[in-house]
Amino acid sequence: MSFAYQSLLDRVHAEVAARPVRGKVADYIPALARIDASRFGMALALVDGRSFVAGDATEPFSIQSMSKLFTLVMAQRLYGDELWQRVGREPSGTAFNSLVQLEHEDGFPRNPFINAGALAVTNALVSRYAQPERAILDFMAGLSGRKKIFIDEEVARSEEQHGDRNRAIAYFLKAHNRFENDVAEVTRTYFRQCAIPLTCQELAQAALFLANNGCALDGTRILSPAQTRQTLAVMLTCGLYDGVGDFVFRVGLPAKSGVGGGIIAILPGVGSLCVWSPPLDARGNSAKAIEALELIAGELAVVPGVL
Ligand code: GLN
Repeated sequence: MSFAYQSLLDRVHAEVAARPVRGKVADYIPALARIDASRFGMALALVDGRSFVAGDATEPFSIQSMSKLFTLVMAQRLYGDELWQRVGREPSGTAFNSLVQLEHEDGFPRNPFINAGALAVTNALVSRYAQPERAILDFMAGLSGRKKIFIDEEVARSEEQHGDRNRAIAYFLKAHNRFENDVAEVTRTYFRQCAIPLTCQELAQAALFLANNGCALDGTRILSPAQTRQTLAVMLTCGLYDGVGDFVFRVGLPAKSGVGGGIIAILPGVGSLCVWSPPLDARGNSAKAIEALELIAGELAVVPGVL
């Protein structure tokens, strides 16, 4: 008998939607602050080709730091193991936009998911692509199946206007000879990759290769099996910043969050989940997305680290 995934999503969606809203929608830029806090979508894509949705799963939202997962994959494809000379793979235990460890660690970013590491990754892409923004959009379009992929110009502009902290991080890397490109060019590309809108359904689809040993369902190899395991490991240990210990305790899946309120979680060998609910906890991760994933992981009897 096949598992009743649709009824699982429906039950979890109904239960978590009925709970009181905790947390606060990201308000550091006006374009994100305006989002309806009650939006709540879930999508599950399976490696056998089936997919399931619940709630607002087909409404686009700002992917924000979930973009860091896809730029990491692009950089792994281009640089192989050499990438890890540019960025580490240790959890940071600090906020996603923190500078504090850079000072103590020669400007070497702890991992590709905090802003410092993500900027190092985008810097690496800018070094290799004549049109890095186009390359990122094309890669995301190919994986997600979205035909008309674009950048939300209002979100991108707001990010740029409120981007001094990210520019400070980039300059810090540059001061340590870890940044070979123009800071303005790399931060612009980074702000724009964060400002891509996608739906839960598209994001679950885009990340599905990570559940499928590095291959998209049409057989295209995106990452080698070894690189896929490495990416999942970095997601498990660093995907939710300083909230990752609690997340692994409650959910136990490799995941990546964004301040738009989305979280992608991977069920290796099974499928990929994306949950979206805009209000964030104190660490900048979606409160209800975590609650939903916690219920799903419980029902599927996920064992952290074994999966
Ligand atoms: N654009 C945001 C920033 O760099 C992304 C942060 C996030 O989603 N955690 O501050």
